[in-house]
Amino acid sequence: MPAGYETVDIAGGTLLPGFIDAHTHIRSLSSAKRALESGVTTLRSASTPNYQDVTIRELVKSGVLAGPYMVAAGVFVTPNLGESVLADPRLGALMGGVNSEEELRTLVRINADRGVDVIKTRGTERAGLPHTDPRKQTYTQAQLSAIVDEAARHNIPVMAHAHGDEGGYAAVAAGVRSIEHGTYLSDRTLNLMKKNGTFLVPTFSTVVDLTEPGGDYDNPVLFIRGQHMLPALEWTVKRAYEMGVKIATGADTGYGPESVTRVGMEIANFVRLGMTPMDAIRSATSVGAELLQITDRTGTVTVGKEADLIAVPDNPLEDIRAVQDVVLVISNGVIVLNRLPFQKE
Ligand SMILES: [Zn+2]
Repeated sequence: MPAGYETVDIAGGTLLPGFIDAHTHIRSLSSAKRALESGVTTLRSASTPNYQDVTIRELVKSGVLAGPYMVAAGVFVTPNLGESVLADPRLGALMGGVNSEEELRTLVRINADRGVDVIKTRGTERAGLPHTDPRKQTYTQAQLSAIVDEAARHNIPVMAHAHGDEGGYAAVAAGVRSIEHGTYLSDRTLNLMKKNGTFLVPTFSTVVDLTEPGGDYDNPVLFIRGQHMLPALEWTVKRAYEMGVKIATGADTGYGPESVTRVGMEIANFVRLGMTPMDAIRSATSVGAELLQITDRTGTVTVGKEADLIAVPDNPLEDIRAVQDVVLVISNGVIVLNRLPFQKE
C-alpha cells in the first residue's frame, strides 16, 4: 500500500458508490453535513434562494469542505421570484414577474453568469403549499422552450418541477433533461420521456412526508392532498420503470434538522414499488451520475474516478433496508464518517 493511505476494514459489509441526491434544497453548511453523513457524496440542487448552492460547490472544489459535491441550480426560474430578487441586484428587473420570453431568458442568463450547472424551472404549481394546486400548469410549452433554448446557449440542462400531466408534457416536449416529481404523468408523457431520454426524479419520500405528521410538511391540507397524490405517484413510478424511463433518486429536502426524507428511504421505496434492488441502488448512483452528466468522476466504484464510497453492514441485494444504515462515508478520498467497527447481531 502506498504511503499516506489508510486501510479500512469494513468487516463483511458492503461497499457502494456514494449516493447521489438529484433533488435537494440545501442552503446551509449544517444541512450539507447532514446530507454527507447520510451517505450522499453528490447533490444536485433544485434551486436555492441566494446562490448558496453555487458557494457550497466552490467550497467543496477548493477543498475547504469535504463534500458533498454540488451541481448547482441557483435561483428558481418561476413566475414570481419573491424574496429571491435579493440574490442579485440585476434580478430587480424581474420583480414584476418572470413570464415573457425576454424575462425568462434574462433570468437564465443571470443564473448562468452566477455559475450555475443546471436551470430549475416548473411546469406546474407546488404540492407543498396548501393554497397552490400541484396539477395546475404554470409555464406553457413555448415559455419552457425559451428557457431550455437559453440554457442550451450556456451549455446548461434544465430540470422541471411537474406534478400535473399537462405541465409535465409541456416540459418534456420543450426538451428538459428531467421531470421532478411527476405525480400525475400519463402514459403519453412517460412514452415521450422514454423516447427523448428524459429522466424522472419522483422524490417519492417527500410525498410520503406529506401524508405523515412532522417532517418538512406538517399541515392538514397537505395531509389530505398527500392521500390523493401518493397512490398516483406509486402508479407513475411503476409505469415509468416498466416502460424503461430512467429513474433517479431525490429526497427533495433541505436536510434540515426536522427532515424525514433520505436517499436510502427513496431506494427502499423504489424496491417496494417493484424495482430490483440493484436497479434501485443504480438509481441513486450510476443513473444519478448520468443525469448529472458526471459519469467521468463518480457514480460507480471504478479506478480513476473520485473515491466517493460508502459502506453498509449488510448486503442490500438481500435486504434493501441495509442502504439506510450507512456506517462509512468517504467523499473524494476523505473519510468523513466512520462508525466502524459495528457489531453484527
Ligand atoms: Zn424540490
